[in-house]
Amino acid sequence: MAEKTKGDRMIPPENWWRASQGYASEILTLLADAPDRDVLYWRGETFSGGDLVRSVTEVFLALRERGVGKGDVVAVLVASNSPEMPIVRYAVNLLGGAVCYLRTTNPGTISAVLPVEHQIQMLQETEAVTVYADAEGAERAAELAERTGIPVTRLHHVGRKETALSDADDVPEPAAWDSGALAVINFTSGSTGRPKGIRLSGRAWEATMRAWIDIGREHGCASILLSTPLSHSVGALADAVFALGGTIHLQESFDVEKFVDAVSAETEISWSFMATSHVFQFVDHLLEQGIRDPEGVAAAGLSGLKTIAYGGSPAAPARIAQAFDLLGPVLSQGYGTSESGHITNLTHMDHGDPKLAGTVGRPFPGAEIMVCDADSGVRLAAGEIGEVRARSAQMMDGYNRLPELTAQVLRDGWYITGDIGYIDERGYLTLLGRVADVIKVGGVKVHPIVLEAEILAHPGVRHAAVYGVRDEDGSEHVHAAMECDPGAVVDVEEIRAGIAESLSPIHVPEKMHVLDALPMNSNGKPDKVLLRLTESPS
Ligand code: AMP
Repeated sequence: MAEKTKGDRMIPPENWWRASQGYASEILTLLADAPDRDVLYWRGETFSGGDLVRSVTEVFLALRERGVGKGDVVAVLVASNSPEMPIVRYAVNLLGGAVCYLRTTNPGTISAVLPVEHQIQMLQETEAVTVYADAEGAERAAELAERTGIPVTRLHHVGRKETALSDADDVPEPAAWDSGALAVINFTSGSTGRPKGIRLSGRAWEATMRAWIDIGREHGCASILLSTPLSHSVGALADAVFALGGTIHLQESFDVEKFVDAVSAETEISWSFMATSHVFQFVDHLLEQGIRDPEGVAAAGLSGLKTIAYGGSPAAPARIAQAFDLLGPVLSQGYGTSESGHITNLTHMDHGDPKLAGTVGRPFPGAEIMVCDADSGVRLAAGEIGEVRARSAQMMDGYNRLPELTAQVLRDGWYITGDIGYIDERGYLTLLGRVADVIKVGGVKVHPIVLEAEILAHPGVRHAAVYGVRDEDGSEHVHAAMECDPGAVVDVEEIRAGIAESLSPIHVPEKMHVLDALPMNSNGKPDKVLLRLTESPS
């Protein structure tokens, strides 16, 4: 490859990444085609396509100098949703290596930096060869280096100046893209809190990106506001936006006021992705402002939003109906897992149909689902309740260094979700909870989610959690905890009577606690483990 000289400096040959032929090369080519176009906004800074291309080149060269090559894992510790999250991934994938992000294990929300012990575990289990850190991650990275001996790689002015090459040997040359090779190890915190690494091949990552490209095209969406961590599958959504020629507005975490301000100021923002609870925060915020319908939403300058993709936890049908009346057909609910990628999708129009609003929709393009008997594995007919299994190109290769756990959840090419549900005649999936959460009372299986929906249907109830508590004899009892809107008067006996009538007296929780705040786990879901613990006989 011939390189150009400019003044006394050499700059890399154009399109040096092309030979790799993977997704990163595709994106960089598009960015390089319009180098002066602003494509990314973060913390008041604007990055052009050229800035991003330069940044990837610099990071590529720095990591190569560090010795990173094919099959190596680079741990990334940079500010929440900083542009360096995708930049470093592109560079590492172009080197033939994989990334593992050290900041959070939770796809739904952004939490503070993970405990140092978890990060050490992640570094050791992935055999990371270096920790790539920015200024915000530098102190922690130094601590990690001291405790593990893994060196830190830092750059000081990413993307802001012309990339300088020290000599002709510095010409960046990518590794040929191997879609079957490891591209990302995503960590997720299980119920025990110990992070588990999910191994995603380049093929799985690209399949997720292509699915998002299809959704973007279908709804005419290009520019996006993202506030959930780019370290998880949302990173592939960001890639899709670049591939669609759109721009990305990054926020570090979801803040409803900042979200509304950005969408109303930047009319180009046509889609967003958020956790289920964020959608309802957005709805509540608009209602508090006296906005009641799509006309009001338009008057507030928010009509540019064509799609709000969300998911990650159950959404009460009554709340979906409220959101639909307020926002119109813009919501797109996804059901998926970190292990399997997207499984189903409830479309914009489905949200307006009360019969469908309690479902999680139909299989995502490219995904297949079935419901099986959890014990025998036999496939069940429409309407029968069992364990949900999914299969698609987005699926993980397995857990990192956990072959037994991998064998439990990946069988015959299917991912066993641990979710319980049924598929109706039209192919819509309804979820009823987790296999592990089913409460058996006197031989009857009580699905917490069904009860939670009943409780949440009562005005004034904000969050509800239903869980089983075992007594000394080992028998399970149904208990519930609720958090209500401030000042709301909620009649617990009325809720009990409603459950007895609509479900059965067996479903009525023996205890119903009204708490000031429901404890939430790191995934932003009610912490049933803690609730159960505080009530179990010691
Ligand atoms: P995670 O791997 O942390 O994304 O969690 C995946 C789990 O979240 C799934 O197995 C479901 O139990 C739950 N989940 C994800 N999306 C939805 C949804 N749209 N509705 C209900 N539950 C969901």
